[in-house]
Amino acid sequence: MGRKQAIVIGAGIGGLSMGIRLQSLGFDTTIVEKLDAPGGRAYVRRTDGFTFDMGPTVITVPHFIEELFALGRDRADLTADDFPTEIVDESKRIKDGISGGPNTSRYVQIVPILPFYRIYFDDGTFFDYDGDPEHTRQQIEELGEPGDLEGYERFHEASRAIFERGFLELGYTHFGTVGSMLKVAPDLLKLGAVRNLFRFSSKYFKSDKLRQVFSFETLLVGGNPLSVPAIYAMIHFVEKTWGIHFAMGGTGALVQGFVKKFEELGGAIAYNAPVSQINVSRESGKKVVTGVTLADGTVMAADLVVSNADWATTYGKLIEPKYRFWNSDLRVKLTQQSMSLFVIYFGFKADGKENDKLRHHTIILGPRYEGLLKDIFGRKVLSDDFSQYIHIPTLTDPSLAPPGHHAAYTLLPVPHNGSGIDWAEVGDRLMDVVFTFLDERGYLPNLKERLVCQSYITPDYFEHTLDAYLGNAFGVEPLLVQSAFFRPHNRSEDIGGLYLVGAGTQPGAGTPSVMMSAKMTARLVAEDFAVPDEVVSGKASPELSYR
Ligand SMILES: Cc1cc2nc3c(=O)[nH]c(=O)nc-3n(C[C@H](O)[C@H](O)[C@H](O)COP(=O)(O)OP(=O)(O)OC[C@H]3O[C@@H](n4cnc5c(N)ncnc54)[C@H](O)[C@@H]3O)c2cc1C
Repeated sequence: MGRKQAIVIGAGIGGLSMGIRLQSLGFDTTIVEKLDAPGGRAYVRRTDGFTFDMGPTVITVPHFIEELFALGRDRADLTADDFPTEIVDESKRIKDGISGGPNTSRYVQIVPILPFYRIYFDDGTFFDYDGDPEHTRQQIEELGEPGDLEGYERFHEASRAIFERGFLELGYTHFGTVGSMLKVAPDLLKLGAVRNLFRFSSKYFKSDKLRQVFSFETLLVGGNPLSVPAIYAMIHFVEKTWGIHFAMGGTGALVQGFVKKFEELGGAIAYNAPVSQINVSRESGKKVVTGVTLADGTVMAADLVVSNADWATTYGKLIEPKYRFWNSDLRVKLTQQSMSLFVIYFGFKADGKENDKLRHHTIILGPRYEGLLKDIFGRKVLSDDFSQYIHIPTLTDPSLAPPGHHAAYTLLPVPHNGSGIDWAEVGDRLMDVVFTFLDERGYLPNLKERLVCQSYITPDYFEHTLDAYLGNAFGVEPLLVQSAFFRPHNRSEDIGGLYLVGAGTQPGAGTPSVMMSAKMTARLVAEDFAVPDEVVSGKASPELSYR
């Protein structure tokens, strides 16, 4: 009997991780990608000698990357501890040199970044978050109100407890049944992890600035601090424990590393291959997946299909309604999508002073925090004020721009396309307003005269190029009512042999989460297809062909 055939729809970081996992489980896997290159949100734009990572730039939990690069064909390693004790200790955080581990280094070089972020407030003061307890305390004393230092100690302990239970112990739980969720609910209630994150941080800090510093991070995974459950306070601790890292050559170099690994394990990738339908048949009354049909009419057969495409698009567009009960059109419509982004990619002449105010990762918060969040997530309007995150990777890796130049992007959270905003009309103006701001506030003086190239993407790019419903940038919004069992499942409830990985599914958005999503899904596949224990545990002899 030959090896089982698997198809993964989409070569995002979630799809590539899944491809590697499936090869390690002994499936012959083909990834079919709509675009002409891999990465999805992590696609790379190259122009005029500049290299722009279009999406993720902040790399966390290098251990997850090392795990993927360590896998072998028919060696899935799914039974070892997800968080071995030797990595769960802040003293193990890599602060300089090369991060990632020996297997990672064979594919891509990853380095730690300090500070993790510089966070500017509208009055020009800033907070450097670097995970160093003493430096953090010192800045809290300078910026905070009386009592905030003591509040930080309590915040630290509360978020540590959430990190330990919510991430280390439960992070890899697939909440496929109500029972699985009810089992953990009392613990999370006790930890205060279900109230909203901003309220959680406000309990510990009186200063508005510190309330923002200790709640904004969820925006990097599509969560509104005003409504995301406080379980996301774990992000603060994840960063503190393992640091923030950068792939030399850009996140695109990490993506290329994953492609190389997948191909070495025997997987194949087809680009320019949009899937128009996931094919399903009824066998003895059960609905099972049979493969996919591409937009050009090609039919590809498979024993299992994993969709890395947007959750709402997968069910709403790729599967006929008659095969769906749980994931009906109504459910797709009622599910809240995360916000979108306006991202400007720009190359400019260096003046040698970029490092004066900016760091590799800089957040510039606007004059309003709660009001702006309500405009973006609730009222869905484009406000006159904005907050932004600037990425200047050439401060770490000058090879991403011609000599004497920088490559940068700046990202503004904006409403998704449920807003009705006409981006073709407002895009150019918004880009100009942002450049003027960076120049006049002294972040990048005379920027407009120094620009060599500029382009931008809007929610329309997410909707029409990445096929994300309403142009969401991070999939299904992380809300309490859309968490755990209520977040889309990685094993389809409707169709046998169909799985989903990536930002819209469990556990959520962000590059570490989509890698976790692939590992959780691989465990479900191993169970459903009765993959032999020696393969699942990674104890099989190399190149074992068991089917
Ligand atoms: C601007 C930006 C900055 C971010 N910054 C960070 C960060 O710093 N750190 C972090 O951890 N996370 C960050 N994120 C979030 C992170 O990038 C995403 O959550 C993650 O990369 C999503 O990966 P994915 O595999 O789920 O999906 P995607 O990357 O969206 O991949 C899905 C793939 O499926 C393909 N596809 C869709 N439909 C079809 C079809 N019908 N047929 C074939 N292929 C199809 C798409 O073309 C795409 O390649 C950022 C996101 C954005 C947008």
